[in-house]
Amino acid sequence: MTVRFAPSPTGLLHIGGARTALYNWLLARGSGGRMILRIEDTDKVRSTKENVDHILEALDWLGIDYDHGPLSQAGHQPRHLEVIEQLRQSGHAYEFEGSTRLKVPDEGETVVRDLIRGDVTFKHEAIDDFTIARSDGSPLYNLAVAVDDLDSEVTHVVRGEDHLSNTPRQAMILEALGHAPPVYAHLPLLHGPDGKKLSKRHGAASVQELRDAGYVREAVVNYLALLGWGYDDKQTFFSIDELTDLFTLDRVSKSAAVFDEQKLRWMNGAYLRQLPAEQLTARIEAFTGREGLAGAVELCREKIQTLADFWPLAAFFFDGPTDDPKAREKFLDGEGRLRLQDARAALAGVEPFTTETIEDSLREVVERLGAKPKQVFQPVRVAISGTTISPGIFESLELLGRDESLARIDAAIDAA
Ligand code: GLU
Repeated sequence: MTVRFAPSPTGLLHIGGARTALYNWLLARGSGGRMILRIEDTDKVRSTKENVDHILEALDWLGIDYDHGPLSQAGHQPRHLEVIEQLRQSGHAYEFEGSTRLKVPDEGETVVRDLIRGDVTFKHEAIDDFTIARSDGSPLYNLAVAVDDLDSEVTHVVRGEDHLSNTPRQAMILEALGHAPPVYAHLPLLHGPDGKKLSKRHGAASVQELRDAGYVREAVVNYLALLGWGYDDKQTFFSIDELTDLFTLDRVSKSAAVFDEQKLRWMNGAYLRQLPAEQLTARIEAFTGREGLAGAVELCREKIQTLADFWPLAAFFFDGPTDDPKAREKFLDGEGRLRLQDARAALAGVEPFTTETIEDSLREVVERLGAKPKQVFQPVRVAISGTTISPGIFESLELLGRDESLARIDAAIDAA
């Protein structure tokens, strides 16, 4: 099996393109076949080096490699011109106002064999003779794709459904050249949760944006694989090895798939929790560009769904309490301040200063004051973190250490 991913370099690699790349790659890797990367760079204006690099970078991050390429479609122009000439010579194509058109028979039909959609029939009466070269001689898209697929001996063309209407034209070009077309598979469209075609408005639209939003490669690959494919009704989590083993086109659906960033978040959170502590720390340190985060990562790992969720939750450990005047007003005024003084006195005597002993001493304060736990814990939390949302209060105190905890509590008492 030889497959190809043939992106046009128009900017960042979008989720739909990434899914197409992934499905091709899974087919190649699962079958011991060959994956070609062909950059469709015939549009000179958009095919900048920067845009090509965006594609390479995104594939690299996803872990999608290729056996051949990146090929440049524009680099094949001499060959395209040769084929155009050949089609004119053989009478399959003719000149029309300087351009070249392929003759489409008036009768009959072209049947596209599609592994997802079954046979799709295109009646010739509905297809006009079409242009394969402009009047300046330059080859057009359908011609270039058909010739490149032929020359690379592509056996399976797997691409988005939006290309289905091009397919009979590409098949006709191949037929005119005396070759059987490859097998096709057109992948279902992607929609947002609102049922509309996927676009920027539905959140992160490109691989780079997902990466920068703190999603990890394993979760993104797993989630992309499920956009139109499923193994059975039960399994949601697939390792990359499992995907290469299990992925087949006959389990790809015809109907539009829904990209729902909330589901990706949930899945990403599950992947993060599953990582060994050192690995999660390493990834968060790489993501945030900070070091020495192990202790804070341990405390936050149950609460984060993306790498980006970590810092807002943990910054207070390193950069001091966040400034949240509402939280201070609510928990550090009047009685809150008095209870904080009690908590401070208790914490000053806790020995050793560990999660368990801290918890015991603060619960004693709660009992002694006849208060609700929250009435003591929240003032402490606001004093050390500045906010009402933080990892576990006892663990956080231990991580900060006695001196720092008491200093922050003192500052809060003074400020209140
Ligand atoms: N270059 C086309 C695109 O980026 C894909 C062409 C193909 O897969 O045949 O949409």
